[in-house]
Amino acid sequence: MLSEGRRSLALSTRGFMPAEEGDALWQAARAATAAMPGMPMLELGSYCGRSTVWLGDVAEGAGVLLFALDHHRGSEENQAGWDHHDIEVVDERIGKMDTLPFFRATIHDAGLEDSVVGLVGRAPAIGAAWTAPLSFLFIDGGHGEEPARLDYERWTPHVAVGGTLAIHDVFPDPAEGGRPPYEQIYLRALASDCFEERSAAGSLRILTRTR
Ligand code: MG
Repeated sequence: MLSEGRRSLALSTRGFMPAEEGDALWQAARAATAAMPGMPMLELGSYCGRSTVWLGDVAEGAGVLLFALDHHRGSEENQAGWDHHDIEVVDERIGKMDTLPFFRATIHDAGLEDSVVGLVGRAPAIGAAWTAPLSFLFIDGGHGEEPARLDYERWTPHVAVGGTLAIHDVFPDPAEGGRPPYEQIYLRALASDCFEERSAAGSLRILTRTR
């Protein structure tokens, strides 16, 4: 488990990862890095670094790197006028969101700068150029149809066989949340016959790559 200090830092960081799901994410990442030693982990959608603290703690313990990817301009559901908008993360000079300074502060304060590598840019472009197999991929990116589809297509092939795919905001019941992470990532992964579901916690789903 996380130390008390890191856990309270994570819980005081902006973001949308409930404590129990963060702990489940930590457990799944621990198992994945133990099964595939030496392989890096990657998080899609780091925002201000809340879930990154749980995953960075695992990376540090396993002696591997966690790549934390985000364009830091906010997903569509974070923009002005949407439910998850936070005015304090807007860079007034340019009138756009910029969560990178918040992310940097979180990783610094967590003492995780040696284990967490921030990647700033668009996930589909980086995914198309990426070559390293991953022990653990956590998808918590844009919740629109196209971002979710592209995260699935460009990133899940990089999960090593035996590695883990974790997906956040999976809502089988439309009354509970948006469809794209469920339809474009979770259902497609299961339909591919390359992934099997291992566990679930809240809206978090943990899958293993089987072939
Ligand atoms: Mg999420």
